[in-house]
Amino acid sequence: MTRLVLATQNEHKVHELRQILAELVEELGLEVVGASDFPDAPDVVESEVTFVGNARLKAVAVAKATGLPSVADDSGLAVDVLGGSPGVFSARWSGSHSGPDAPRAERDRANLSLLLEQLGDVPDKHRSASFVCAAVLAMPDGSTEAVEGRVTGTIRRDPVGENGFGYDPIFVPDGDTRSMAEYTDAEKNEISHRGRAFRTMIPVLRERLT
Ligand code: IMP
Repeated sequence: MTRLVLATQNEHKVHELRQILAELVEELGLEVVGASDFPDAPDVVESEVTFVGNARLKAVAVAKATGLPSVADDSGLAVDVLGGSPGVFSARWSGSHSGPDAPRAERDRANLSLLLEQLGDVPDKHRSASFVCAAVLAMPDGSTEAVEGRVTGTIRRDPVGENGFGYDPIFVPDGDTRSMAEYTDAEKNEISHRGRAFRTMIPVLRERLT
């Protein structure tokens, strides 16, 4: 059985990716494991300034450490009026307000509150944004393949909804009035940046892992 390592410690992402990749897992008899199953897998510092650069760093490091094919994603929210920020800094946007060791939910709340504050004076017609996801497959020989997915929408003035994570409660996908935190898992995977990136990745995985 081929093992594929998901190079992420974010349990929300592992949950989403397992669902998105479920069909392929069955078709190819894949075993999808998380990086947390490998105590020696490196905790990679995301030192690049592009999503694809960071995803490549993580995937290559984990493939090298485990000797197994690895997929990593790097994702975030790009707000147009902020020139694409928070972008690759989405997870750390509020910096020391919550602290690097604060629980993820607490950091997510601090990031979202700061962003809402920064957009306080921005009128509705200028609140467009996109969620972006770069996904990279790295093979143990160091070769890589990269894809990208994106969903466009607008930023609400207050959070709503309990599902998902991160900026989901303030992001309203184009064509809807609900925030992404009001979507079911399946609805989110259908349209999300991560769903789109990994569905583009499926034929690549099919080719490279068989
Ligand atoms: P990463 O773990 O370095 O890729 O950081 C991603 C950050 O971007 C997360 O901490 C969230 O703040 C944000 N983000 C990425 N994907 C999503 C999503 O699907 N919903 C909400 N926020 C997201």
